[in-house]
Amino acid sequence: MDTLLPLGTGAARAIHYYNTCFLLNGPQGRLLVDAGGGNGILRQLHLAGIGLQEITDIFVSHEHIDHCLGVIWIVRFSAQLFLKGLRPLPLRIHCHVELARKLQTICELTLAPSHLTPLGSHITFCPVTDGEQREIAGHTVTFLDTHSAKAEQYGFLMESPEGQRIVFTGDEPCKPELHSRITGVDWLFHEAFCLDAHDDIFHPRSIGHDTVKRASQLAESCGVKNLVLWHTEDNETVGTRKARYTEEARHYFNGNVYVPDDLEVIRLTTR
Ligand SMILES: [Zn+2]
Repeated sequence: MDTLLPLGTGAARAIHYYNTCFLLNGPQGRLLVDAGGGNGILRQLHLAGIGLQEITDIFVSHEHIDHCLGVIWIVRFSAQLFLKGLRPLPLRIHCHVELARKLQTICELTLAPSHLTPLGSHITFCPVTDGEQREIAGHTVTFLDTHSAKAEQYGFLMESPEGQRIVFTGDEPCKPELHSRITGVDWLFHEAFCLDAHDDIFHPRSIGHDTVKRASQLAESCGVKNLVLWHTEDNETVGTRKARYTEEARHYFNGNVYVPDDLEVIRLTTR
């Protein structure tokens, strides 16, 4: 993958950031990972100058509304493009089979009948299972069950033809079962709900999240090269998040730290 475009970097309740979702841009396609909670995905894509017809694949990690409802908006307007003959490439939506069923049902309950006609032909749900591999945008993607206790959830390991490895661990702290998957990777995309100093305010572990400190310690212990942190609160650190999160992460992690703002492009170089 050439670049990472974080379309949103906030947790579910954040209002100063869009919900965490991102686009991986490669020479052979664009993978949207999660889509945030609603119509804001259209605004973020517009601000980034990305047309819906450019997205070849969507991966949806789990069913929570801050991650999956934006997908309904993408389906609705992608369907319109297909119906008008403005979208040549099919759209594949990768997620676990039960989530595919739920998303399909939401589409059927809420979209106009005409917007459902491309479903199954031009817009297809592609169920994923643990360890299954699939070629997406010219890269080999291995889907990983995150062993979430909140809701069935998947992340992935993406390998480029040049051997670069990128891991997305989904919406919660990386479980021990996945540590071998992130060992030595070039890029780790990990949630970090708040600073360690704010643990007593947000109690992130009680809601299936963790602090910058603990995410950084994990990355250090696994020999990760580049760490991207997101899915954050926006009460205590709005306006200062990048500096404070980066400072805390650097204290525990010796690789490169990225705390992107919404729409801040990151070049996925290997260094
Ligand atoms: Zn979330």
